[in-house]
Amino acid sequence: QPLADTSTGVIAGCEALLRWEHPRLGNIAPDRFIDLAERSGLIVPVGEWVIRSAIAAAAKIDPHIRVAINVSPMQLRSPNLCAVFINALAANGVAPERIEVEITESVLLEQLRALGLRISMDDFGTGYSSFSYLRKFDFDKLKIDKSFIDCLGQEDSSDAIVGAIIALARVLGMRTVAEGVETSAQLDLVRRLGCDEAQGYLFSRPIDLE
Ligand code: C2E
Ligand code: CA
Ligand code: CA
Repeated sequence: QPLADTSTGVIAGCEALLRWEHPRLGNIAPDRFIDLAERSGLIVPVGEWVIRSAIAAAAKIDPHIRVAINVSPMQLRSPNLCAVFINALAANGVAPERIEVEITESVLLEQLRALGLRISMDDFGTGYSSFSYLRKFDFDKLKIDKSFIDCLGQEDSSDAIVGAIIALARVLGMRTVAEGVETSAQLDLVRRLGCDEAQGYLFSRPIDLE
C-alpha cells in the first residue's frame, strides 16, 4: 500500500501487507492469521519470507520509494532476525536506509538500527504503542493510529491529540504518518496539523506489486 507526502502528494514509500489466498477458504485477512501465526510461533518463518519478499520487491521499484515491513514482537526475539535482513539486503543490492521496520513494541531494536534500517513506531496511541517507548528508543517515524484519524473533524479531542502527537514528534526529530486516511477532509486536516505523510484508501488500498 502506498504512502504519500502530504504536501506534494508524491508517493514516498509503501508498506508490505501480507495476503493469504487459501485454495478453499479464499482470502484470509491478516487480522485473523497473524494472530494465529504469533501464537503458534509460525510468525518467525512467515516473517522471514515477508522480509525476503519485501526486500526483493524494493529492488524492483523506484529507488526513491521506501519499503516498510511489519515485524512482530516474537520475531524481534529471534536470534536470526539480523542475519535475515543482512542476507536479503545483500542478495538484492538494496540500501538499508530504504527499509523501514514497523513495530509495536521496542525490544532489541538497536541491532537493526545498527544495520542502517529505519525504525517506525506502528499504531501509535494504542495499547501496545505508547509514550513510554519514546523514552526507551529513538524512532525515526511515528505512525498515528487510524482510530484517531477516523474521528478527525468530528471530535475536538481527536484533533487536539493528533496535533499534540505531531508536535511531540517534531520536537523529538521524528517524521509522522497518518494511518487510514479515507477522505480528502481528513487529508486536509492532517496536512494542516503538520503531518508529513499519509496512508489510506484515499490514495490506494493495498495492491499487488505489479
Ligand atoms: P497495520 O500494520 O496497522 O496495517 C494497516 C492496516 O490498515 C492494513 O490492514 C491496511 O489494509 C489497513 N488500511 C490502510 N488504509 C486504510 C483505510 O484508509 N481504511 C481502512 N479501513 N483500513 C486501511 P491489513 O492489510 O488487513 O493488515 C492488518 C494488520 O495485520 C496490520 O496492521 C499488521 O499489524 C498485520 N500485518 C499485515 N502484514 C503483516 C506482516 O507481513 N507481518 C506482520 N507481523 N504483521 C502483518
Ligand atoms: Ca504497519
Ligand atoms: Ca498501523
